[in-house]
Amino acid sequence: MNLLELEQVEARHGLLVAVRGIDLRLGEGERLAIVGANGAGKTTLLRTIAGAHRAAAGRVVLDGTDITVVPAHRRAALGVALVPEGRRLFASMTIEENLRVAQSCGRTGPWDIDAVLEAFPQLKPRFKARAGSLSGGEQQATAIARALMANPRVLLLDEVSLGLSPLAVDRVYASLQSLLRTGTAVVLVEQDLQRAMDTTDRIVCMLEGRIVGEGRTGQITREQIMQTYFGHRPADALPERVGTAP
Ligand code: ATP
Repeated sequence: MNLLELEQVEARHGLLVAVRGIDLRLGEGERLAIVGANGAGKTTLLRTIAGAHRAAAGRVVLDGTDITVVPAHRRAALGVALVPEGRRLFASMTIEENLRVAQSCGRTGPWDIDAVLEAFPQLKPRFKARAGSLSGGEQQATAIARALMANPRVLLLDEVSLGLSPLAVDRVYASLQSLLRTGTAVVLVEQDLQRAMDTTDRIVCMLEGRIVGEGRTGQITREQIMQTYFGHRPADALPERVGTAP
C-alpha cells in the first residue's frame, strides 16, 4: 500500500484554481521532488497535503485513511509534517521551546531533542537563543528539526534553500541527507534542480497547477526537466503523465 495517495486533488485561492487534477502516489520511505516555475502550484499542493489549505475537490489518503477533511493539527498527529516556505518559527521563543511545542502535538518515535541536535549540530550552541535572533540557515535548520520532533511518516519540505547563503544551504542539505537515511518519506519542493536530483528518487514537474511530467532521478536529465518546466515538449522531454503515478 502507498503511504500517501492524492486522487484528483484540486485547490483554489478564491476563483483561482492553483492545483488541478493532481494524482500522486508516495511509497513508504520514498523521496519525491516537486519542481516547476514560480506560481506552478507547488506550495499550494504541499499545504493541501498538510491540511493547511482546504482541498476544493479530490481525496488525500494517508496509509489507506481518507484525511481530506482532517485538520492540520490532526494530520500532524497522524504523521504529516510541513516545513513551510519562510520557516514560520515562533520568533520570541527559543530553539528549545520551538522544538518542545512541536513534540507535544506529534507522534512518539526516534526523533527527540538529542536526535535532532545530533542531525543539526549547528543548533547546539544556539539552543537557548530566541528564534528571531538566528541566522537564516539556523532558522531553517530549526524549522526542519521542529517538524522532525513530531516524528513524521511523511515530511513536506517547501523551498528549504530560499534566502540562504550557499554555505547555509550546504549545511542544511548535509543534515537532510542523514535524516533521509532514516526512512522517512519526503516530498521536497526545491528550485535548485541539481539539489532536487541529488536528494530524491523521483521528480514530478508542475505547470499551471498540473503535473506535466515525471521521471526517476538517474533516468532523466536536467535538460529534460528544464524543457518540461517551461512547458516545451520536444521529443526528449520528460514522459508525459498518463493515468496515475507509479
Ligand atoms: P512559488 O515558487 O512562487 O512559491 P508555487 O509553485 O509554490 O510558486 P503557489 O505559491 O502554490 O505556486 O501559487 C499558485 C498560484 O496561486 C499562483 O498563481 C499564485 O499567484 C496563487 N496564490 C498563491 N497563494 C495565494 C493566495 N494566498 N491568494 C491568492 N492567490 C494565491
